[in-house]
Amino acid sequence: MKVGGLGDVAGSLPRALATLGHDVRLAIPGYGAIDWPAFQPERRGRFEVPHAGGREPAQVWETRSGSVPVYLLTGPPIPTDRRIYGSGIEEDGPKFIFFSLAALEACRELAFRPDVVHANDWHTGPAVYRLSTTGRSDPFFRDTASLFTIHNLPYTGRDAGRFLAEYGLPATLDLELLPAWARDSMLGLGLAGADVLTTVSPTYAREIRTPEGGYGFDGTLSARSDRLHGVLNGIDTEVWNPSTDDALRERFDAATLGRRAANKAALQEEAGLEPEEKTFLLAMVSRLDSQKGFDIALPALLRWLETGGQLVVLGSGDPAIERALAGLELAFRGRAAVRLRFDPPYARKIYGGADGILIPSRYEPCGLTQMIAMRYGAVPIARRTGGLADTITDVDEPGGTGILFDGYDPGSLAHALARALRVYAQPEEWTEVERRGMAQDFSWDRSAAKYEALYREALHFRPGEISTG
Ligand code: ADP
Repeated sequence: MKVGGLGDVAGSLPRALATLGHDVRLAIPGYGAIDWPAFQPERRGRFEVPHAGGREPAQVWETRSGSVPVYLLTGPPIPTDRRIYGSGIEEDGPKFIFFSLAALEACRELAFRPDVVHANDWHTGPAVYRLSTTGRSDPFFRDTASLFTIHNLPYTGRDAGRFLAEYGLPATLDLELLPAWARDSMLGLGLAGADVLTTVSPTYAREIRTPEGGYGFDGTLSARSDRLHGVLNGIDTEVWNPSTDDALRERFDAATLGRRAANKAALQEEAGLEPEEKTFLLAMVSRLDSQKGFDIALPALLRWLETGGQLVVLGSGDPAIERALAGLELAFRGRAAVRLRFDPPYARKIYGGADGILIPSRYEPCGLTQMIAMRYGAVPIARRTGGLADTITDVDEPGGTGILFDGYDPGSLAHALARALRVYAQPEEWTEVERRGMAQDFSWDRSAAKYEALYREALHFRPGEISTG
């Protein structure tokens, strides 16, 4: 399953760590949405998770992703239908607390004692908290260190106090580092309890320590800033490879960039756009969420279409944004094409055929879209925030790979689009920008080496005698 970028990370980072020689195992909820027959999971254990209402039965199933063992945790709070997220904390609180605790108990059941548990986002805060509290007097987990990664700070899993208490995770003094409203948030448990904290870009690591970017956690994160590091995500360069991608009409690489034109034509055809070779085809592939900047994009895109540009949008989410985009398509038939669903093959065709990818995010912890776009020779036009600032070099600087803008307003975005058009009007210059983007190294190898160093650092905070050589 994949809802957003964390799905990519969970698929790629463990493999990259395994390549470095580590024994890595991935634990995810055993959702009904998983294609169970395709993965043939085998049941490896049954155990119970303590709960105020009686012990809850849990099961751990094993399958593989490449060489990495993947544990699927099932039990009453984990949905067996096609849902991932539910309607709110009433459903998602128990679901992810259960998952967090079941993942730890599964380790015990399988006699796999991890040196480090790497937990991701609010869903897994309870696992970190368990390790940092009762785990310290638990012979099995006493020496297990934790690293907690913030992928998206504003999602906090708030108001989970009642459920945390039911699962035996009452608040302790450690939580005084948190603002009062966050002491029953699942994210807070991770932020307060982890041996090492990371987030997914150096710029975002700075932004979240400020009042504007901290969403109320700036004080907590500043207090723990010696434990907080920014490590960029990578992309799986085998999965995202324009020279082998079956979804494309013409495969290409930096040396055969000319072939890309056929993909643009194919995209225009599939999207129902006029087959105009020289018109700038701008695209967005995005969750439709207020984070992603649609409020500033819509007015600018209106002007873009009025002045002759083309637009392809792929995304799903907020119904109000869906309606606004559908309206744009109706008003500009043949110039704007909007597809409101999750469609990975179509996303590939967009990356391989569009001229520019617009990413006007309000904030962006890392962002994968811009890296995938560059790998496919599509030029990112993006707001200078978070990981976008760390991965894109503006065309006005040496080695430019994209167009960056600062202000969060339609005028700044429109100005960036105008700058893109100016470069696009010089085909040789544009091709150089595309080539430089394609030459960037966004592979996981570099990030995996950084995580490896941070796992070692986390182990220093544990008393046990663990060989880290
Ligand atoms: P976030 O995790 O905030 O959604 P990222 O840029 O980190 O943003 O990751 C988004 C990922 O999801 C990218 O791989 C992108 O191609 C993909 N994606 C987003 N929306 C869609 C969609 N509607 N169809 C297919 N892929 C999508």
